[in-house]
Amino acid sequence: MENADPPKSVSRLPLPMSSTKRPILANASDNYESQPAQKRQRKEPEAVRPKVAATIVGTKRLSAATARPPVSKPARSMGHPAATVAAGPSRGVAAKRPVSATVPKAGVPAGTKRPSWDLKGKVSDMQGKLTAYQNKVKSSDQSNESLKAAVTEKDVIIRAQQSRLSECEAELKVLYGVKADLQNMTSNNREMERRLLHLEQEHKATETLAENLERELQSLKVKLSVAESSLACTQTNLCCTQTTLRETEEKLASCQETVARQRDEIHVGEMARRCLHNVIQELKGNIRVFCRVRPLLAGGMGGHIQLPAHDDKTLILAKSEESHTGRTDTTQKNYSFSFDKVFGPHSSQQEVFEELSLLVQSALDGYNVCCFAYGQTGSGKTHTMEGEDTEDGWGVIPRAVQQVFKAGRKLEEQGWQFSFTASFVEIYNETLRDLLYAGKASNRPEHDIRKSADNTVIVTNLTYKKVTSEDQVINLMALANQHRATAQTAVNDRSSRSHSVFQLDITGENTGRDLKCNSTLCLVDLAGSERVQKSQAQGDRFKEMTAINGSLTNLGIVITALANKENFIPYRNSKLTYLLQGCLGGNSKTLMFANISPETDNFGETLNSLRFASKVNDCVIGTASANRK
Ligand code: ADP
Ligand code: MG
Repeated sequence: MENADPPKSVSRLPLPMSSTKRPILANASDNYESQPAQKRQRKEPEAVRPKVAATIVGTKRLSAATARPPVSKPARSMGHPAATVAAGPSRGVAAKRPVSATVPKAGVPAGTKRPSWDLKGKVSDMQGKLTAYQNKVKSSDQSNESLKAAVTEKDVIIRAQQSRLSECEAELKVLYGVKADLQNMTSNNREMERRLLHLEQEHKATETLAENLERELQSLKVKLSVAESSLACTQTNLCCTQTTLRETEEKLASCQETVARQRDEIHVGEMARRCLHNVIQELKGNIRVFCRVRPLLAGGMGGHIQLPAHDDKTLILAKSEESHTGRTDTTQKNYSFSFDKVFGPHSSQQEVFEELSLLVQSALDGYNVCCFAYGQTGSGKTHTMEGEDTEDGWGVIPRAVQQVFKAGRKLEEQGWQFSFTASFVEIYNETLRDLLYAGKASNRPEHDIRKSADNTVIVTNLTYKKVTSEDQVINLMALANQHRATAQTAVNDRSSRSHSVFQLDITGENTGRDLKCNSTLCLVDLAGSERVQKSQAQGDRFKEMTAINGSLTNLGIVITALANKENFIPYRNSKLTYLLQGCLGGNSKTLMFANISPETDNFGETLNSLRFASKVNDCVIGTASANRK
């Protein structure tokens, strides 16, 4: 601060303190030249101040290297260092100009003019002026010298300032670098701040997530503990269940053993039943004859037929004859017949079938079974074999078929599998006719009876229909009746003059026990057995009747031959016996219905029928053996 207020007589230019020229300037202030000097002094503070300021600033700047100045001041001075230095000398020159312009005239007050005559005065003025100018020149020289010194000094200062400037510039560069670094750092900082913000947000989100996860974890822990306790409970239950399961498995195994044992027992029982059943059938006779009396159309029956009240095996045919001796008007002749069973006119279809049902069981056990109805036309053969359409009215064939399917299904439980094949054939006038033929009438084939390699009887070109239910068989029977009715129109009363043979081939297999059986259930509705006198029947009719009677007679002969165990059995003498060959004889069970009419007019035919039946009844066909493999 000592430079802030310099002495008034001293130039404002920074001079070295040792300068000897300053006193001259100080003295000159007493002269004319002192005015301009004073003027300069007044003006200088404004003109020179920047120099001083620059010096001061410069000095400060120098000291700034050691003591850091306020940031704003160096920034201002640094912006104009050259201008300040350059202003110094120019201001110095400018300060001189008013010196020449404002030199006062010596001895004359300003603004007054010497009279023209005052030459001496004028000379003196001029001399004064000259002296003044000389002084002025001197002082200018001095001033010039001092200025030169000042310039030199300034140069030094300038150089110092320049070096300082370059230092400053270097420093500035450094500072620019620092600034750039700072800017980088600032931008980095901003980036970091941005990242930090982002990270903070992320952190917050993570914290929220963590909180949620924590909550979830807590709830999962709760769930886990619940699950663990339930698992423990389940494990306990599982243990119990496993124990129960083991016990159950043991029980099951023992049950399975029991079932297997019982199956074996059932099988053994079934075999025993078959044997016993067969023994019973044999004891009953392998050929059995049942007599069935048709009711009179008005109900009841004729008096010539008597059925003893407590004997269902006997039938007495009574005939009143005129006495040969003449003593009495009439004599009663009784013909008593015994059969396996006699069915009266009130016997139901069910009662009649019950006797046959045992033989149907034999058919499933592997024995051939043959059942035929014998009797004169109108005696009830068709009624017995086929019956009516209503289930109560069903005859032997539908009932037998129903039982076969029922028993077959039951035997499936014991491992048996059955298959059934049905055929329906009519023998008219020793000619075979397929009653199940479904083709064109013009293409109807001819049939022949043959024996296959395994000695079973087959009919060529015959329809053998696989059946799986009783309904199918009922439908086949309806079809057969339709065919018979069509044929009936061509030959009157044909149905009564033809035999109809229904055959059901049964094949059973028990793969588990490697057992097989096959048999045939043969149900025959024979032609009317009435005998016709040659005189009453001519031509074809006679031939037809002969054929019928021939086949029926041959049936009797065959049965008798079988009963007598004859070597030759004339099966081939008629189509009927040939067709029934497998069902008659050693390996079969035969049942005959002798149907009789209750009318007195039919006495003769009834007697014939009963005699024929009785003859058959007397036969005991050899012991049957089941067709088993
Ligand atoms: P066939 O076939 O022997 O010539 P049918 O079976 O056709 O004799 O019987 C002749 C008639 O007698 C038929 O109308 C039938 O309904 C009836 N008939 C036969 N037997 C009985 C019976 N047991 N009960 C009631 N009606 C019968
Ligand atoms: Mg008939």
